[in-house]
Amino acid sequence: MDSIVKGSGTANMSDFSNQLVDILKTKVSEFRYNQWLKPARFSVAGDTLKIQVPNKFLRDWVRNHYLSLIEYEAYSLSQKKYQIEFTVDPDGGGMPPRSPASPLAPISLEDFKAALPAEVFSKEIEKSPSYSPVSLAPMPSTPGAARSPFNPKYAFDTFVVGSANQFCHAASLSVASHPGQNYNPLFIYGGVGLGKTHLLHAIGLHILKQNPKSRVLFTTGEQFTNDLINAIRYETTHEFRKKYRESLDVLLIDDIQFISGKERTQEAFFHTFNTLYESRRQIVLTSDRSPKDIPQLEERLRSRFNWGLIADIQIPDIETRMAILRRLAERNRIELPDAVAYLMAERLTSNIRDLEGSFNRLSAFASLSNSVVCEELAEKILQDLITEKKTALSFDRIQDLVAEHYKLDVDSLKSKRRFKTVSEPRQVAMYLCKKYLKASFPEIGHHFGGKDHTTVIHAVRKITREIDLNPEIQSAVAVLEKYLTA
Ligand code: ADP
Ligand code: MG
Repeated sequence: MDSIVKGSGTANMSDFSNQLVDILKTKVSEFRYNQWLKPARFSVAGDTLKIQVPNKFLRDWVRNHYLSLIEYEAYSLSQKKYQIEFTVDPDGGGMPPRSPASPLAPISLEDFKAALPAEVFSKEIEKSPSYSPVSLAPMPSTPGAARSPFNPKYAFDTFVVGSANQFCHAASLSVASHPGQNYNPLFIYGGVGLGKTHLLHAIGLHILKQNPKSRVLFTTGEQFTNDLINAIRYETTHEFRKKYRESLDVLLIDDIQFISGKERTQEAFFHTFNTLYESRRQIVLTSDRSPKDIPQLEERLRSRFNWGLIADIQIPDIETRMAILRRLAERNRIELPDAVAYLMAERLTSNIRDLEGSFNRLSAFASLSNSVVCEELAEKILQDLITEKKTALSFDRIQDLVAEHYKLDVDSLKSKRRFKTVSEPRQVAMYLCKKYLKASFPEIGHHFGGKDHTTVIHAVRKITREIDLNPEIQSAVAVLEKYLTA
């Protein structure tokens, strides 16, 4: 007779399966065990170790992550090599039943697209917290009355903490609770869409909540640069100084890497930094890379960034990604089955912005169809997103972007003109095509008005070299890459 044991371990089971489950429990964290292994039922039939799970996503997960562990432990326990066989049985596992049994009408993606407002299909549904124009948060005279530059959505309590971002989160909270006292500056860095801007807003919101009179200035590296340029142009450096050195208690600058290669801006920032630092006013900076990796940054700034605390934010693990989806679902009152959350969290690995974007599409679909979201729908949406990303990166797109950046038309990029103002953008475009489309040199030449492949090789080599030497090219490429990969 087959013996069956449920992962949670109750009476009347074979010793073997029982022991196996006990061992597995000690090999993975409690969280992971409860999440992934507890719902499984183990049973033995001859040489086969059967694992019954309630749904496909659990099966795939266990197979991908725990198969060798299970094989290994089963072997250690019995000195026998078992064949592992998975079966999916929705009623047999220990998982809670799926969300309401409302029958799902067959869903046609096209129908939904037609019914949706156009912006649902714009590339970036959930924009990153917008860069508000520089403005001082509530002035002392009218606490709370002035418009806050902070987005209430990006608070600490909407930020899901996992192992990849807990350090940054803790550091941010500490700085927000005791500005100017613990770590100055706090320097947060990490890739696109991982929550840096969110944390910066959270710090601002928290400080204002604790002390509505506090003058918190939120700005970006780009805005700081523009302010300085304008101050010089209109001879208003006095106002500039006042804004950044006098009328504030806390300075939050998003994307400080923007000042790389800009000497005057770095000079102005150096003095700003010193003034604020000496009077123990809190400075928080975010960047897409660590201080040591920001090119063309003055040494004295680099070393100052190291005076306080440097915290890096990484890509959250799958559990955190699922938790973020659950949080979104709760907030939007959407029923999100585990299988769907898993599917999305597993596929969307690179950043949270994409995760949110897909969630928004999914929930728009679901609410329009009056049905619960299901795996098939999620599958379609993810597929769409992947196709879009692929088409997003094409010769046309790269050429359009480069032309726009340099204020040229695409035809000039494809022309034979040799003026530097045209040839350099053309070389940058070729370089980006090589890097992002992985196209061959002749293919690239073909897309640039039939240029010879040696011309392309020369262009790619030149830009690769110039990136390290020429701040203008370096920053142009950085900006363009940001658009291409966002
Ligand atoms: P970055 O500035 O690092 O490029 P953002 O702060 O703009 O990234 O984050 C992108 C989106 O992802 C935002 O909508 C943000 O709220 C969300 N997000 C990022 N990390 C988290 C998290 N840990 N919990 C909840 N939402 C998050
Ligand atoms: Mg950001």
